[in-house]
Amino acid sequence: MKAVRRGSLAFTLRNISVNAAIGLELVRRCSSIACMNSNAIAGGCLCGSIRYEATGKPYNITHCHCLDCRRSSGAPFVKWASFSRSDFRFSTRQPRKLRWAGRLRSFCPDCGTPLTFLAGPDADEIDVTACSFDQPTALTPTDHTWVEDRLPWIRLADDLPTYRQRRQTHAA
Ligand SMILES: [Zn+2]
Ligand SMILES: [Zn+2]
Repeated sequence: MKAVRRGSLAFTLRNISVNAAIGLELVRRCSSIACMNSNAIAGGCLCGSIRYEATGKPYNITHCHCLDCRRSSGAPFVKWASFSRSDFRFSTRQPRKLRWAGRLRSFCPDCGTPLTFLAGPDADEIDVTACSFDQPTALTPTDHTWVEDRLPWIRLADDLPTYRQRRQTHAA
């Protein structure tokens, strides 16, 4: 494993020397140990001022149709992935936090991209907007939650399980 990691670092350094612009971007995104972990998931907001990294395995990959997700995103539903809170961190500055209905949502203060959701300030898990991942195709959703709020013109045809409200158990 060590040889492989050294190899990928050499590849990164070569890229920097070949193309300074791309290299700087790689350095900005990969300046932490977490980024050296091949399992790390990175992402961020539209304008790039807020970036995050998660190292643990995501779970509860869901499309949430609830009214609050809809209004906070301006989209018909939001795809979320949950992480253990200790496995997630913002690698730039902190986002703007909004307390709403007893929950804590976060957004980029500059461009408004919705980023995270906490059920409460002491919650053990953090939900992350999976379409703000750099690689959103990496995680396939496992279900739809809060479909009692689903907009009538959204037709679900993916055969995934649906829950009227929240799911009671974890889904891988
Ligand atoms: Zn932003
Ligand atoms: Zn929701």
